[in-house]
Amino acid sequence: MKFNVLTLFPEMFSALNESIIGRGKEKGLIDINLINIRDFSKDKHKKVDDTPYGGGAGMVMNPTVVYDAYKSIKDKNTKVIYMSPQGKTLDQQIVQDLAKEENITLLCGHYEGIDQRVIDEIVDEEISIGDYVLTGGELPAMVLIDSVSRYVEGVLKEGSVEEESFSNGLLEYPQYTRPEIFLNKKVPDVLLSGHHENIKKWRREQALINTYNKRPDLLKEIELSNEDKKMISDYKILKEGGKK
Ligand code: SAM
Repeated sequence: MKFNVLTLFPEMFSALNESIIGRGKEKGLIDINLINIRDFSKDKHKKVDDTPYGGGAGMVMNPTVVYDAYKSIKDKNTKVIYMSPQGKTLDQQIVQDLAKEENITLLCGHYEGIDQRVIDEIVDEEISIGDYVLTGGELPAMVLIDSVSRYVEGVLKEGSVEEESFSNGLLEYPQYTRPEIFLNKKVPDVLLSGHHENIKKWRREQALINTYNKRPDLLKEIELSNEDKKMISDYKILKEGGKK
């Protein structure tokens, strides 16, 4: 999968050379083409912004420079996404849909943002990483690249994304590793039993409990089996101090 990134700060993307995404790049599964927007400035001081028409605080990125940087991308079929607090909020469904694309171009704004005319001209979609404002689109672009790259075949071990939080509409169950006893707390017995059916059942129950406690809103969005509903209602009774 290829990402083109239009940015004023390409050095920031060195974070993606680490760990799993770094290995995905080394294996050639993910290709990140960083394009420095400033290289396309015709100004002798390499200026890329100017004061906003109509007045007001801050600076606005120049449309010509952004457009010229965009035109330097040779890939014809690329989906252009503007990282913007005004966009659709990134979630696991959007991540999975984007993972089906072969070529994505991410436009990172800075300062007060980018002249609207070039956004209207080149952008297919605006995506936000949450209802707050950051100084630039670089961190949001990295969040998008990281989350989408995990769905590229070969980047993670097979099966890794399937049971994770949000994949089946629930949060994931708690995870444990060695040592068996840590600070007097023992790993749940069922996980040591080797009984796959019981482990599966326990994990489903724990995922439901986790979701009920941390993100009850998610439970309204998915279809629960009668067994799921019973697990939640038994847990509620236990939590409220009653008997099953
Ligand atoms: N003036 C803009 C507004 O009020 O909508 C905010 C500009 S912000 C300071 C500068 C750049 O950071 C934006 O152009 C965008 O690329 C990026 N950015 C800031 N917050 C973001 C968010 N929550 N999600 C995605 N990108 C964001």
